[in-house]
Amino acid sequence: MSPSSPTRLPAGPGVRVRAPSKVNLYLAVGDVRDDGYHDLVTVFHALDLADELTITPARRSSVRCTPADGVPAGAKNLAGMAVRLLAQRTRSGGPVAIDIAKQIPVAGGMAGGSADAAAALVGCAALWELDLDRRQLTEIGRELGADVPFALAGGTALGTGRGDLLSPVMTRARLHWVLAMAEGGLSTPAVFAELDRLREQGNPPRVKPVDTMLAALAGGEPAAVAAALGNDLQAAAVSLQPELRRTLRAGEAAGALGGVVSGSGPTVAFLCADAESAGAVAAELAGSGTCRSVRVAAGPAPGARVIPTSPVRG
Ligand code: ATP
Repeated sequence: MSPSSPTRLPAGPGVRVRAPSKVNLYLAVGDVRDDGYHDLVTVFHALDLADELTITPARRSSVRCTPADGVPAGAKNLAGMAVRLLAQRTRSGGPVAIDIAKQIPVAGGMAGGSADAAAALVGCAALWELDLDRRQLTEIGRELGADVPFALAGGTALGTGRGDLLSPVMTRARLHWVLAMAEGGLSTPAVFAELDRLREQGNPPRVKPVDTMLAALAGGEPAAVAAALGNDLQAAAVSLQPELRRTLRAGEAAGALGGVVSGSGPTVAFLCADAESAGAVAAELAGSGTCRSVRVAAGPAPGARVIPTSPVRG
């Protein structure tokens, strides 16, 4: 492991790891392939709305999430699956207790499960002092889910293939967001199936080529980024949860530069001119009755990282 590796073990018996959520600034979905998958072209953007995991050596493995609503506690939790896969691939490790402090909405289209998987990989690699670099960790992450490589990388990145083949996107933009969380979640496979159904019935408009978004990010102007926001899954998410239309209208009426359903939804992300405007939009949206709750967030945020422990003062 290199001396600068972010997976190096800090002092203390366990590690704390923070992993970011994501919004898709742009998401183009190709037609369904023979194997059932869709080719994607997407621009991921990591947000500082993050989950925090505490990973401690223990006698028995466990995963606990707070709040626990909608998140499997045991072997089916993606963080626990990540630990088992890492142990298998590296033939090392031991039982760990994982505590997840959950901030990322569950089944909200913000890749919270993938963030927890990425955090578990980074945390256990540190705890077990594994000689792994980011590329090797990413290969293991890819086996757990298409969004895991980005949760490891963070920043802003272009994703192709299943969204898991990444190249960084250069941007000077610091973007301020308001996130409108919906009642309940949406299943990602159900949203893709709804898009296939809508496309069989007619031809819902597709997003424009990605170049406009990449140029907007290079320029760094939030208004240009807002104008280039686009998501082929939005029509399908709105078809399954028609009340999202009201949320989208309410955010724009409140003064956001633009709004987009995040990934497969149902969270809606509103891009604002600056932090002050985001605060004002959040306050108005919270009172609009069109969503369950509202959060502000900023990006780009770093990928899954061990949180350095502060020295104990004597
Ligand atoms: P996607 O990455 O497909 O966009 P999402 O962001 O919409 O997913 P997640 O919050 O990642 O949704 O959760 C999807 C499902 O994964 C949940 O319904 C839950 O049952 C399961 N799951 C397993 N482990 C976790 C975890 N640590 N956090 C959240 N969900 C988890």
